[in-house]
Amino acid sequence: MDGSNSNKRRDEAPREGDRWMDVRILKETLDCTVCFEHFRTEIYQCSVGHFICSSCRDKILDKKCPTCSIKTSFKRCFGMEHVVQSVAFPCSNAKYGCREGHAYYQKEGHEQVCPYGPCFCPASDCSFTGLTHELLDHLTIYHMSPCTDLPYHGTVALRLEPGIHVLAPRNKGNNHFFMLNMEPERLGYAISVVCVQPNATEPKFTCSMSYDCSGTGYCGSASCQIKSSTLSDGLPTDYDLIPPKRKISGDRKFIMLRITIHQASSVSKSHVKGKGLTSTPLTLFPRRSDDDGDIVCRSCIEGKCPTSSQKLLFPDYSSDDDDDVPSRFERALKRVSLLD
Ligand SMILES: [Zn+2]
Ligand SMILES: [Zn+2]
Ligand SMILES: [Zn+2]
Ligand SMILES: [Zn+2]
Ligand SMILES: [Zn+2]
Repeated sequence: MDGSNSNKRRDEAPREGDRWMDVRILKETLDCTVCFEHFRTEIYQCSVGHFICSSCRDKILDKKCPTCSIKTSFKRCFGMEHVVQSVAFPCSNAKYGCREGHAYYQKEGHEQVCPYGPCFCPASDCSFTGLTHELLDHLTIYHMSPCTDLPYHGTVALRLEPGIHVLAPRNKGNNHFFMLNMEPERLGYAISVVCVQPNATEPKFTCSMSYDCSGTGYCGSASCQIKSSTLSDGLPTDYDLIPPKRKISGDRKFIMLRITIHQASSVSKSHVKGKGLTSTPLTLFPRRSDDDGDIVCRSCIEGKCPTSSQKLLFPDYSSDDDDDVPSRFERALKRVSLLD
């Protein structure tokens, strides 16, 4: 190797990948020896050098180190803090494609929202796990479950037979799909709806369902919040709609179901959280009848008004007045700080 070449190499900024090295580390090194919690941002040490987390330090009244019992003033240990920050743990969903690494204390928090979290095949004799879209393919190809595209406006009519029926949103970037399950029970066909997604959260969607038995003229409907699930516990066992068996004529073992799926109501706490406000500005849509206004977010303007449950006509609303109701309301919302 000649000199000019090695000089040139020294001048190059190291590439990001070259700055990291895979190592093994004893996990307890990154835990507080007193409370066994993972070290976070502030770490202190006694005069001998025993580490302690900041909340344990705050609880010590006699100023004695819990490890060596020497009376000491605990000092911040920036060196250890740097080590804790720079040890990157791979996400436990790495086998499903997540390439992120996090400090030990951030690992759990990330995995609760990791988009690479697995979903589970609900068939009792099948152990398939995979990403949301992989499970969708698995259900429709391997188990040959019927599948209906869910259009953007969220309403679809389908022929529902006992078993699983998949509803696939048009936008594949959604990382969720819906699943209907119809099971023959003693008195009727029990129908449940579930949103299949990684990291089951509070419901993000609502749905309304209605059916019509053309033979008997019997009809029924229900509205509900849609549970979200990874299906790790199998199919939901509580039902959202049960058409009575005797009302479904003869040997026809199906019903025609009309289902509308809509994002959960707009100004709930869960909706305001995160990026909801910046990505979906609020808009005022006056009701045609009496011209008073209901406020909904832009993604909710299709279908029913979440506040009045009334079918809305949505005329184009524009106002040059800077202080109209929506912008005042948006400003008020931005000042709201959410308490957990
Ligand atoms: Zn501690
Ligand atoms: Zn000590
Ligand atoms: Zn991850
Ligand atoms: Zn399966
Ligand atoms: Zn909304």
